[in-house]
Parts: sequence; structure tokens; C-alpha cells
Amino acid sequence: MRPQILFPLFAAVGELKGVGPSFAKLIAKAAGPRVVDLIWHLPSGVLDWSKRSTTRDAPSGEPVTLKLLIVDHSPPRIKRLPYKIRASDDTGYIDLVFFKARNDYLQRTFPVGQTRFVSGRVETFQDRPQMAHPERVLTPDAFETASQIEPVYPTTEGLSVRVLSRAVAQAVARAPTLPEWQDPAWLKKQGWPSWHDAVVSCHAPSALSDIDPAASARQRLAYDELVANQLALNIARAKLRRLKGRALRGDGHLRAKALGALHFSLTNSQQAALEEIDRDLAAPQRMLRLLQGDVGAGKTVVAFLAMLTAVECGCQGALMAPTEVLARQHGQSLMPLAEAAGVSLAVLTGRERGRERDSVLTRLQEGQLDILVGTHALISEDVLFHDLGVAVIDEQHRFGVHQRLALSSKAGDPADILVMTATPIPRTLALTVYGDMDITRLTEKPAGRKPIATRAIPLARLDEVIEAVGRAIKADERVFWVCPLVEENEDLDVTAAEQRFAELDKDFHGRVRLLHGRMKGAEKDAAIEDFRSGRAAVLVATTVIEVGVDVPDATVIVVEHAERFGLAQLHQLRGRVGRGAKPSSCILLYQAPLGETARARLDCLRHTEDGFAIAEEDLRLRGAGELLGERQSGMPLFRLANLGAHGELIAAARDDARLILSRDPDLKSPRGEALRVLLYLFEQDEAVRTLRSG
Ligand code: ADP
Ligand code: MG
Repeated sequence: MRPQILFPLFAAVGELKGVGPSFAKLIAKAAGPRVVDLIWHLPSGVLDWSKRSTTRDAPSGEPVTLKLLIVDHSPPRIKRLPYKIRASDDTGYIDLVFFKARNDYLQRTFPVGQTRFVSGRVETFQDRPQMAHPERVLTPDAFETASQIEPVYPTTEGLSVRVLSRAVAQAVARAPTLPEWQDPAWLKKQGWPSWHDAVVSCHAPSALSDIDPAASARQRLAYDELVANQLALNIARAKLRRLKGRALRGDGHLRAKALGALHFSLTNSQQAALEEIDRDLAAPQRMLRLLQGDVGAGKTVVAFLAMLTAVECGCQGALMAPTEVLARQHGQSLMPLAEAAGVSLAVLTGRERGRERDSVLTRLQEGQLDILVGTHALISEDVLFHDLGVAVIDEQHRFGVHQRLALSSKAGDPADILVMTATPIPRTLALTVYGDMDITRLTEKPAGRKPIATRAIPLARLDEVIEAVGRAIKADERVFWVCPLVEENEDLDVTAAEQRFAELDKDFHGRVRLLHGRMKGAEKDAAIEDFRSGRAAVLVATTVIEVGVDVPDATVIVVEHAERFGLAQLHQLRGRVGRGAKPSSCILLYQAPLGETARARLDCLRHTEDGFAIAEEDLRLRGAGELLGERQSGMPLFRLANLGAHGELIAAARDDARLILSRDPDLKSPRGEALRVLLYLFEQDEAVRTLRSG
């Protein structure tokens, strides 16, 4: 249970003064639904009102504060016109100008004959100085005590910074004094304030440098968040280590048969990965290993060979993929290998129903089925393995941590887990997301892969691209055509893809197929199958193909509105080609003009195919969250830690967490108690429960 001292922070923002239901909704959108979200909502800038000036000398367009005597009010005669207030100082007159303002509010705020300190930007209009919509108005008394620097918060449409600031100020006022969970010596060395002081000071910047990630208050909060993350991961890891595993040592007879059926030999990297995996399987502890390999590095076959070891030992293997399309593809590509090895393999997704499903489940439970490939349908309650030995999870960033654990605890005996990801996560990030796992990297690509010629072409030259596609079709090549991602709106995605399909089908009649997430399973299969077999030459798809569709004969990929995709995503998409012996190309169609970041992304892709280099660049260009496709994935979202700026803190947090847990594994000491509060503060309740249950 969350400790009482944190209750005020986990109240809904609607409980704050002046925050009604409609503001609460907007605040939830801008920052989050609870008070604590407002505390984590740090200023993105400052307004500096310390510069005093006069009506005559105010520099145009710069923020200044004027001491003004209010002279008179001129309400507009018609609504469209502004409300004007005339004011003066020793050097002259100025007009304060308001559009669509409430008269009574202005009359109250600017009483005639009184002095006000008015801050904003002065401009000249018809040779007279004016200030439109002053940002701040203070009585002389209030001015005495007010801070000259105001924080600016990122907000959302319809929510004024002022309303948001007031809500944040109330949230900050609710921040309790919490027991110190950090090591006092370390705090002193870093020069960091207490949690409470850090919160207050982050929201009360006194200079621009205070909103820099390097500011000590910000570092302190970021470090708290990182320590909470590392503790949670280490607690989960410790729990897994405590769970009994079992030693799986295959004799290699099935593997040898499967290897014999491959039309290629394993790369050194694949071999090295298998050796690491085999060591884990043979050890009595549970394996929890991440197999990280760039697109096309050949992870699937490694996973399959690992599952074969389980089968050699008389147990079963399971492979869970994030989409139906992928699950079927894995099933299809592994079936011949399974047959060669003489093991049974079945596919289970949401589509298998009725008798077919029952039969798979029965065979699975009775142990007649060796390997099961599927979607998250594998973790439904009625899927029972006879004896699951190795569980493989493909493209894990689409699954949450809980799903990962759900599959592994399917069997009575805990299964060894292998997680595969094509997201080339930089080391710093890997530590925060996969800190509970051992990591194996496939660094080498299968031999004979040719570089992919990558070009960026403006959409205005679409015709040329279509001509090029025509030439490719004549040369008997296969073309992926990826349609843009429209603002998280699948309906619009689908419409865009349907339109492009219709247009291309006019040019290349009968040779084009469509693939998107709204199609029925059988329709998807048919589209992919036609494309794979060559009946179709062009596959128009939404990003469903991103996660691993493998058609080695495809040599061209066109990405429409490439500027809307993230760098990692573009890299994944490009990886759909360049898998065979023929030279491949990637055409990034963009809408001109390109913004600075979009241009940097496309340039990066043109210059390198190295997934890790691309990931580092991506991390630099964007936040860590987007890199992982956080929205779909349920990955921890760092609110305070900025992995670009706080990179070095991650390693420190990891060491700290390990040291803490080695001394006080149950967090029972006084500092341990404080650390529990920290875990709850960052909503790592699961970790605390794990401690409890021991
Ligand atoms: P990913 O790592 O992206 O999941 P896949 O496992 O889908 O990659 O493999 C990509 C393609 O490379 C597949 O067609 C696969 O058969 C092939 N492949 C895998 N390993 C090798 C290898 N050692 N030599 C040649 N081709 C390979
Ligand atoms: Mg794959």
C-alpha cells in the first residue's frame, strides 16, 4: 500500500482550487491526471521580468516591466475592436491593448488613478507605444515581493500557461517533506538539495540556467527517478534469480538436422549468441536474456535453435510475436526447419478458434506439440503447456514487462526466457529498460548483404518515383510501399493506404496488393502470400510491415511522408529490403519543406545503415520515450531524467541500487524504508510488492 504521506500527491488534479472538470481534463492532457504529475511537470523556460524600462525607451518586442499610472479606459465600440487602456510614466504615454477581454476584469485590474507594475512586450503602433495583452500586472505591494523570473510550462491547446502555473504552484505547495532516501555523503558531494527543496526550486527558477538539466535541483530529481527505476529492475531480477530454473542440456541431434536444412551457415555472431544462450540454458538458474540484433541480423533462427534445445531435453518451446502477421510468418518460415528436425510445430493466434484451437491446446497440454508459435494469444489462461522449457518473445518493445513474465510463468517449472528486439537501443538506455536482463548482441549481418541505396525525394516528384517503380516491376523486382502514419489515427492511415493502393493499381493493374491493420486475417495472409510468391509486385502497407515482415526478394521500399516517421522506425522499415543477393534501394518521399529535425533524420539515414549509430542519433534528436515507441509499449517513461543530459547518472544509479540491495535486500533499514517511499513515489508499487512477497 502506498504510504499515507504520499496521498496528497496522488489525488486527482480536479481537487486543486480553481480546477474544474474541464480544466482538469486539459491539465491531464498537458501534464497528467494527478497532483504528482504536476510536480513532475517541470518548466520548459522562464519569463524574465527583471528588466525595468520606460514607455519611451522600452526596446521593441523584448520583455520589460513598466511602472505605470493608469489614466483612462476606452472600451471598444464594436466587439471586433480592442479594449484600450491609456497609461503613463514620466517619459510619456502607452496604450495597453486587449482583444476579446472581459471589461469588468480589466476595470478591476487597472483602476484609474492607481499605479501598476505592468510586464510584457512593447511595440510601436501608428507611432505610439503599445503593449498588447500584458503578461503580468502587479500592485506596488505585490511587486515588492514577487519574483522577477516566472517559470513557463509546456501546455496544451485551450489551457493557458497562467491556469496551468497556478495548478502547479498548488501541487508544489502540497509536496510533503519526505524522509531522505539518498546517501547523505553522495548528496553532499553532488551539492544536491533535499527532495522537497529540489521540487520547490525546480518550479521557482531564478535564472535561465535553473531550467538546464544540469541544474542541481533537476539532477537530484532525475537521479531519484533513475534510482527508483534501477531498484525496481534489480528487485525484479533478484526475484527471477531466486526462482528455480533448471538445467537444459541438449545433445544437439535436432539442431544438427535443422542446421542441415538451412541454405546458409550461421554467422559468427549468431554462433556466439547461441553459445551464450546454451550456457544460460545449461545453468540451473532461469535464463533472462535479451537478444539484440539489427533488422535482418537473423534472430529468428537463433531463437528456433534455442527452442530445439528445449525439445531435445523433452520439453517445449514457445515463440510469441507482437502481431498476427509476424506470428504467421514465423510459423511459415520455421515449419520447414521443424519438419527437417522432426519436431511438431503449430501456430496459435486469435484467429484459431473452435475445434482447431481445441486440438492445438490438447496436443500442447499432452506434450505432443513441441513448439508453439503465436501472438499474445499464447498467454491466455487456457493455454497450458505440458512442460515449457524455453519461451521466446519477439520484438519485445511492443510487449510490456508483465506480458513477458506472464509467458514465462506459464509452466509449473519456470521457463528460460529469451527476448528478441530489433530496436538497437543505446547502452545507456538498455540499462534503464533491460537492466534486469543479460544482453547478447548480434553485431554482424549475414554475408553477402549489399548496401541499400537510400535517397530522399520530395513528394512533388512522385511521378518519377512511380516510373522507377514501373521499371523495377519490369525487372521482376518486388516493391514495398509504406503509407504515412497519420497522427495516431488508424482510420486515416487506412484511408491514405487505400488511396495510394487505388492509384498505383491504375498504373500497375493487378500487380498491387494492400495490407493494413483493419483487414481480416485471411485477407492479410493472401496479400502477403501474393507478394511473397511474386504474383503481386507491389505491397502497399501501413506500418504493419515495420515489425519484421520478411520477403527476401523485395528490393525496393518507398516510404511516403518519411518526414513523419521517427528515425528508428525508418531504419526498421528500410531493413525490409536488402535481405537477398540483389542490390536494394530505399526511397524516402518527403513533403517539402523539411523541418530541421526531419532533415537531420533523413540525412542520417542516407549516410549510415548502422542501427546503433542511428539509435544514438535518434536519442540525440528525440527523447528516449519516443525511441522505444513508448505509447504502445508501456515502458517506463522518464519524466525527469533526460537520457541525453543525465547519461552519466544512470551508471551511478545502477551501482547505487546494487549496493543498496546487497546491503539491505528487503529494504528494512531506515534508509530502506525511505527508499520504499521513493519506489511508491515513482509508482514502482510492483517492486515493493515483490519485496514483500519475498
Ligand atoms: P531479424 O533479425 O530481423 O528478425 P530474420 O531472423 O527475419 O532477421 O532474418 C532475416 C533473413 O535473413 C531471413 O530471410 C533469414 O532466413 C536470413 N538469414 C538468417 N541468418 C542468416 C545467415 N546466417 N546467412 C544468410 N541468411 C540468413
Ligand atoms: Mg525478426
